[in-house]
Parts: sequence; structure tokens; C-alpha cells
Amino acid sequence: MSDWRKERDLARKTNNPMSFLDNPNFLVRDGLLLNPNVTEEILKKLSHDTSTSIREKLANQFIETAIKDSNWRVRYVAINDNPEVPTEILEELVHDRDARVRSKAQELLQIQSDYIYRKDFDNAITIKLVIPGACNANCNFCYNKHSNQMEKSTTVLKQKWLENFLISLEQIVVKIGKRQPISIDITGNEPTLDADFFIKVMHKLRGFSLRSNISRVTCTTNGVNIKKVAPFMNGIINYVNISVHDYNQERRNAIFGSYYPTDEDYKENVQILLDNNIHSSAVAVIDRKIENFSNFRDEFIEWAEDIGFVSLRFRHNVYSDGNAFLSYMNETTSNNEFFTIQKEDTPDSNWCQLSTSNGFMLFFLKGVIDTYQVSPGIEFIVHDDGKAYADFNKTIPFEKYKFPIGYVFDKR
Ligand code: SF4
Repeated sequence: MSDWRKERDLARKTNNPMSFLDNPNFLVRDGLLLNPNVTEEILKKLSHDTSTSIREKLANQFIETAIKDSNWRVRYVAINDNPEVPTEILEELVHDRDARVRSKAQELLQIQSDYIYRKDFDNAITIKLVIPGACNANCNFCYNKHSNQMEKSTTVLKQKWLENFLISLEQIVVKIGKRQPISIDITGNEPTLDADFFIKVMHKLRGFSLRSNISRVTCTTNGVNIKKVAPFMNGIINYVNISVHDYNQERRNAIFGSYYPTDEDYKENVQILLDNNIHSSAVAVIDRKIENFSNFRDEFIEWAEDIGFVSLRFRHNVYSDGNAFLSYMNETTSNNEFFTIQKEDTPDSNWCQLSTSNGFMLFFLKGVIDTYQVSPGIEFIVHDDGKAYADFNKTIPFEKYKFPIGYVFDKR
């Protein structure tokens, strides 16, 4: 190892960081930024360092110093990807001598006037991975059918997707960095419909070194090909959400329209997933008014427990106003046979997690199709064309996303 590398290693660990402050090599001084013994006072000194690169790294932390820096890059970095720059500083920087700093300050002032930064957000940021292809079922409320955003999946397009999706995924993961944990949600249409293609996706994901800040990987499927794909999900997917929509076979057949899974099929699917270390939850979109909801809910829970699901997730039909759904949710949270574990009302969702007395989990989620419209930053999409987007409607390519990444904003 060359001498300066040895010195930098020392700078990273020393108990006497002051002694490195005057080191003539900036690469050695840079080592101090990773030293846990470095005090705020030393960092403050380093924020005036002669090295632009060191000043840039501390720009967010010592913003008052950074915005007076002679180098435009340091001033730019201090505000870029920083959701908490005080308005007064941005107002000052819209008159900056550098056009790039002026334009970034202008952009952030606009965000501050239109959105509120969600400071208390402590959940994962979701990346939806949309597998190209169709669905074997034909549910009325399916947003893929209504959204008109899905590409017609030809073999060529699917091959292209396979070549590109990891690059797009990486692009988003790297930008979010360590700011928030990340949850990857594999979805479709029906993601497992072309089982061979799905298995290829699993192979690629296995090779993708899943970063430590990816907290979980889930897959939402109607279960049609679980038996074929489950062994390939092992070690990649943590939870599978199986869309069942109703516990009653007749009503379920009517909802799916062209797919008729039996209770025995669900039992087998749940078992094979469990054999591959994966828990499954049942998902039901509530698309109609239910006369006696408490009865429906309790029978549904009993059915789901018997099948072997660990939870039941009710979702509202995004094409309805959701008022009936909210009344079902409120009726359940006020019922003292359930323990409310979490409840959240934000612009993008009304959500709650409850538990029965024997530990079975019940969720209600009234969400929106396109979170970008109300809460940018909470979700990104690798769509069925293999490209990264900030919105489900494919109107904001990820590289054109203007908000600081890794933070959530709510529309005022
Ligand atoms: S199973 Fe899911 S993807 Fe398929 S039609 Fe129904 S809602 Fe749409």
C-alpha cells in the first residue's frame, strides 16, 4: 500500500484527528470524514478546507459556510438533494452569480411553495417492479386494465425488459442511497403468468447484490403459477401477497371472471411457499357495498387462517370514492376485539394494521393509483418497458424527477 493510503487509513481511525488537519495531501484529510472520533468542531474546520471535494461532502451539514463558497459546485451541492434548506437561503441563491445554482434554488423554492416535506416519514420507500405481460383473470376493478399504460408484451419487448430492468433498479437504489430503507414490490398484470420469464427475472435478481438498505422484497400475484415459480423465489422474495378477493368460491369466480382457484389450490400454494421460507398474505379488493361487513370480515379471517395465510389485506377499489371502505375500516378499528397496531392518514393513503387476539394480522389500505400525484418520493417504478419512472403513468422519467431523492413530499 502506498504511503498516502496508509496515512488515510490512519486518518480514518486515529484518536487524535487534529494531527491530520494540516496534512498536505487532501486525500489523507478526506479520511477524517469517516473517522467516528472526529468532533463537530473538526468537521466545521474541514468545511473550510482548501479541497473542493471535502467542502462538497460537508456542504449539506454546514450550509451557511457552503453557500458562501467561491466554487459554484459547493453552493449547488449544499442545496441539491437537501429538503430542508431554509427559504431565506434559497431566496438569496436565486440571485446567485451562477445560472445552475440560481435555477436549482428556483426549483426548490417552487417545491417548497407547492409541497410539504414529510419530516416524520420513517417507512420504506417502495420500488414497484412491473413485470411485462398479461393476466389470466379479468377483474373489473383492475387498474392495469383501466390505466392503459401497459405495453403489449411481445417476446422482443420482454427480452429488452430483461436486459434493462436491473440497470433501472440500480439507478433508483443508488440515488436513494442510505437515506431510507427500500421495499421492492414485484407486480404486473400477473407477474408469474409466463412462468419461464418470471424464473429468468428471479435468476437476475439473485445475481443483483441486494443492498443492505433493501428491507424486503414482496410479490403480488393471483397465484396461478406459484407451484412452478416458488422454488426460484426462495432467498429473494420475503412475502407473497396472493390476490383472492373473496373467500366464497362462487363470488370469487365471478370477480376473477376467467380464473377459478379452489380452497385446495390456495392451501397447496401457501404450503409450497412456506416450504420455500416465504409467508403469504391474502389480498382482497373491496369493490362493492357489503351489507354486513363485520360478518363478511370475520368469515374471511376464519377462511384465511384455515388456508394458512398469515394476514388478510383489504384494499379499496381505486375507482370508487372509498367512503364505504373507510367506514369498514373505522368500524373495525373501533371494535375492541381487534388491537390497532398502526394507523396512518396521509395524502397518499388511509392505512391501518390490526391484530386479532390470536395474532392474525389484518390490514386496510385505501390508497391511490399514482402516488406521484399526491406524495412524490414515496414510490418509484421500474415499468413494463424496463425504464425507471417517478410515476405510474410513465410521464416522469426518473432522471427528470426534480425533488430531492430519498425524501417524501405531500402536495399542499
Ligand atoms: S388478478 Fe390482479 S392483475 Fe389480474 S385482472 Fe385481477 S386485479 Fe388485475
